[in-house]
Amino acid sequence: MGSVAFCNLWSALANPLYMFLTEPPPSQGDLRFRVFGFPVRVHPFFWLVTGIMGLRSGGEGTAPAELLTWVGVVFVSILVHELGHAVMQRRYGGHPWITLYGLGGLASCDDCDRSSYSQIIISLAGPIAGFLLAGVLMAAMSLAGHQTAIQWAERPDVAIPDPSGFALYRLWVIWEQLPTPLANSIVFDALFVNIAWGIINLLPIYPLDGGRVSRELLTLKNPRNGIVLSLQISAIVAILMAIVGAVVWQSLYTAIMFGYLAYSNYQTLQAYQSNRW
Ligand SMILES: [Zn+2]
Repeated sequence: MGSVAFCNLWSALANPLYMFLTEPPPSQGDLRFRVFGFPVRVHPFFWLVTGIMGLRSGGEGTAPAELLTWVGVVFVSILVHELGHAVMQRRYGGHPWITLYGLGGLASCDDCDRSSYSQIIISLAGPIAGFLLAGVLMAAMSLAGHQTAIQWAERPDVAIPDPSGFALYRLWVIWEQLPTPLANSIVFDALFVNIAWGIINLLPIYPLDGGRVSRELLTLKNPRNGIVLSLQISAIVAILMAIVGAVVWQSLYTAIMFGYLAYSNYQTLQAYQSNRW
């Protein structure tokens, strides 16, 4: 019935991405509620997949409290990301609904404005909502007397006592360590998910948000070949990210995820080209 948010054309191409983009059918274990009037459905696989992702590899394993708070942080973060999309979809006249499932979240509507301009704003609104949430958290920590900093540098040079944090290439996110390990791991999870996943989501790889933006921009510039060009860029960037994931980050999960995205973009490209007259 309802079609998925901003990918009608793409899902019509019947390719592996279709599975990636369709909502799972309703199930007995669905959790349903409303936020700001938007219907939200959480498929049981959301909890399962998020839980498995939270099981850190390593000798000592993950403490149950850390696992539970990880699932809670991912739940709130993905919900906020999808709310970012949904608020803009509503602003452009749509009646969206939100689904959280095994592979993340979707903000869907079948009456959204399809114009490139509104689609670009809608796509950007998800990652921006996450960046705002991270900003609010860092501001709240600062107000509570725990210093925080974001810095672009090879090595951070900030005078924060007892620092904790992470780096995304040269982007350093640093905060003064919190008194308990659990509080510190919640802050780490929340800032990492909202900042790092937000940035990855902006890569020009379909069906990530950045891939939707690049498709719209390239189609605006080049109505004839914009989609093909955006698929080629999408596949190449996905291959590069799979290599970075495997070699630099040594993360099998990242390598498999981007490898899969490269493969499905290549499939879509072939399907698209063979369907064209
Ligand atoms: Zn998104």
